[in-house]
Amino acid sequence: MPLYEYVCNECGQPFEKMMRFSELNQSPNCPTCAGTNTRKQISLFASSSSSSPSTSSGCGSSPTNRFR
Ligand SMILES: [Zn+2]
Repeated sequence: MPLYEYVCNECGQPFEKMMRFSELNQSPNCPTCAGTNTRKQISLFASSSSSSPSTSSGCGSSPTNRFR
């Protein structure tokens, strides 16, 4: 059973809840304030912040050699 992260729109409390596939369409109640105004958090762990500069590969070589 997958674990999803939700956040409450009323009290702003994030919480985790295991949801069945049949329960994905409905939002769970907030465990803090028991509110139904909750939304699913999108886990953005795929944000690639690795800045790898690909243009600094030629160290010292003059770029005019390829244009001869
Ligand atoms: Zn709440």
